[in-house]
Amino acid sequence: MNKNNILKTYKAGDIIMSQGDHGDYAYIIEEGRVEIYIEKEDGEKQVFGTRGPGSMIGEMALIDSGPRTASIRAIKDCKFLIITQDDFTRRLNESDPIVRMTTEVILTRYRDTLSRALINKDRKQSAPTESVELQSAASSNAIEQVKMANELKEGFEKGQLFFQFQPIVDIQNNRLAGFESLMRWNHPERGFIRPDIFIPVAEQTGLIHEMTPWLLSEGAKAIEAVQKAAPDMVDKPFASINLSSNNFQKAALLKEAKKCIKNTDIKPEQIHLEITERVLMSNPEKTRLILEELEQDNFHISIDDFGTGYSSLSYLHNFPIHTLKIDRSFVLEMMENEKSMALIKSMIALGNNMNMSIIAEGIEHKQEVIAFKELGCDMIQGYYFSRPLNLDDLIEYAKKPIIVD
Ligand code: C2E
Ligand code: CA
Ligand code: CA
Repeated sequence: MNKNNILKTYKAGDIIMSQGDHGDYAYIIEEGRVEIYIEKEDGEKQVFGTRGPGSMIGEMALIDSGPRTASIRAIKDCKFLIITQDDFTRRLNESDPIVRMTTEVILTRYRDTLSRALINKDRKQSAPTESVELQSAASSNAIEQVKMANELKEGFEKGQLFFQFQPIVDIQNNRLAGFESLMRWNHPERGFIRPDIFIPVAEQTGLIHEMTPWLLSEGAKAIEAVQKAAPDMVDKPFASINLSSNNFQKAALLKEAKKCIKNTDIKPEQIHLEITERVLMSNPEKTRLILEELEQDNFHISIDDFGTGYSSLSYLHNFPIHTLKIDRSFVLEMMENEKSMALIKSMIALGNNMNMSIIAEGIEHKQEVIAFKELGCDMIQGYYFSRPLNLDDLIEYAKKPIIVD
């Protein structure tokens, strides 16, 4: 028998679980019968019912670490199968994300209902369970998330999602070096929804897996279009593609990256894969293996939001990294704050010493462009040069000379 599903026995009269205790397992009754009850503050015992073979008891402990909400006593000799929280968590993590989310929502709702019921000690006066549940559902962020998840999936299938491309300029020669692909969602009723809102939903639900090949191929299409429209102005422009942690849970990334440039003139080094420090460090071993494979095939790897996510720099030499993108939060203060300026200088020096190129993000003012140029930063992305553009506008941007004035 699987060690996670061992049998446990109790004698009639034994207390199996006590209200308020912490537990990290549930039981499935194989033989016998139990009684479920709560003890009220005045000591009165209220029996909810009994359960026999095939029933599960103590199941809430599988999902969260809240206290047991009722006591359970054997009323006959019992045999149970144990399911541990560890075992359940593993199964849940492997399951469909919607199943996972729903399970968590239902539990939240149930606990909410229960706490409301306990607050309203006089049961006759408390609202009917159904309306309490509906109320708690309406106020639950998780339910809103599920709704958005469904709409996002539908929106993706119906073509409501698209990309804008933000130019990245080489400030040492004032030429277009590449661009970052930024996803957009034009919701039919709610209008534009920001990527920081819907990307986490796409990640939680696993929809991001379906989006990745599209993300890569749209980036590759934009490279081809720019290359073709402005061959004298750009030389092998790159597309920066934002990856999420889900991309490092499966081994498909290299295959998908290769596929997006198959039958094109695009070289792998024109595909820049952006990854944040947080994603890098959430599963460092697996991520490193995947990044090394990508690097062997000459794909380019950039650290996004550099400096914001992880306090140690020692990871830098353990991963194949080509570019550091200095986060906008440092840029915002650099002109007024000496410490921000010092940090930026050290990031640029670090990049230069480690043979990595540097992109400064979120540059809005001319004096920042000049400062970064003097500091030896390679590239700049920001509203000063351009906001994110539709493909046609990116092509027009690529055709014109870039002037800093
Ligand atoms: P990010 O990767 O750090 O992208 C840069 C964000 O900074 C973009 O916001 C861009 O429009 C904004 N930005 C660029 N220059 C300036 C500037 O000069 N001033 C200001 N105020 N903002 C500037 P956006 O497009 O709203 O994207 C937000 C985040 O959403 C991105 O941050 C990225 O984390 C995520 N995201 C966007 N598209 C994708 C995608 O296709 N996949 C994934 N996984 N994440 C994406
Ligand atoms: Ca990015
Ligand atoms: Ca960034």
